[in-house]
Amino acid sequence: MIAVAIDGPAGAGKSTIAKQAAQNLGFIYVDTGAIYRAVGLACLQQQVDVSDSKTVAELLKKMDIRIIFFNGEQHILLNDADVSDEIRTEKISMAASKVSAIPEVRSFLLELQRNFARTDNVIMDGRDIGTVVLPNAQVKIFLTASPEIRAKRRVAQLAEKGEQADYEQVLADIVKRDYSDSNREIAPLKPAETAIPVDTSSLTLEESVRKVTEMIKERIE
Ligand code: C5P
Repeated sequence: MIAVAIDGPAGAGKSTIAKQAAQNLGFIYVDTGAIYRAVGLACLQQQVDVSDSKTVAELLKKMDIRIIFFNGEQHILLNDADVSDEIRTEKISMAASKVSAIPEVRSFLLELQRNFARTDNVIMDGRDIGTVVLPNAQVKIFLTASPEIRAKRRVAQLAEKGEQADYEQVLADIVKRDYSDSNREIAPLKPAETAIPVDTSSLTLEESVRKVTEMIKERIE
């Protein structure tokens, strides 16, 4: 089996790039952020404070989180309900970032993520894929872009969905999430030793996809 780990901060383009590169290579694409988001959503649904690690850990026991693939698209099920769209809000982003710092949450989700790499060729994206989840991945990429570029892309993405967002607010949220993801004690966001850095700030989406696909091909052939 071949495993490709793509890590990096929020909004660097990981999911779009990883998804298209996976399509080009015939691999399955696993978006691990979605499962942290599902945990965040479960907490909000149950009105559990996402900073209260003890109660969140208790709630995990009652949570059934599954990832399924429909026509090659990942769907995330929380207690049998498809929450794939519901988890894509800024509120859930912050909740996911909070719960992801809880050790019990990370260990609860670890095997779920590793199982995909046992049965399929995968491109998995997240924050700790190259460092913790798949330390033996054949290819590791650390994708970045400046916070300003990431905020701009996010505002444009929301505008496409008909949602108006304030650039300064989006930028502030990105900086805040970067800080907490990079400074948490457990599995912080950082490049794996052998990760290849790719800065997408001055690349278009097509250029980024081409670059990442080529890099993977070169290393697995
Ligand atoms: O990638 P995405 O923005 O959907 O991830 C949401 C949050 O989940 C991140 O801000 C991060 O805190 C957490 N996460 C993580 N480890 C991963 C993937 C996501 O801690 N492998």
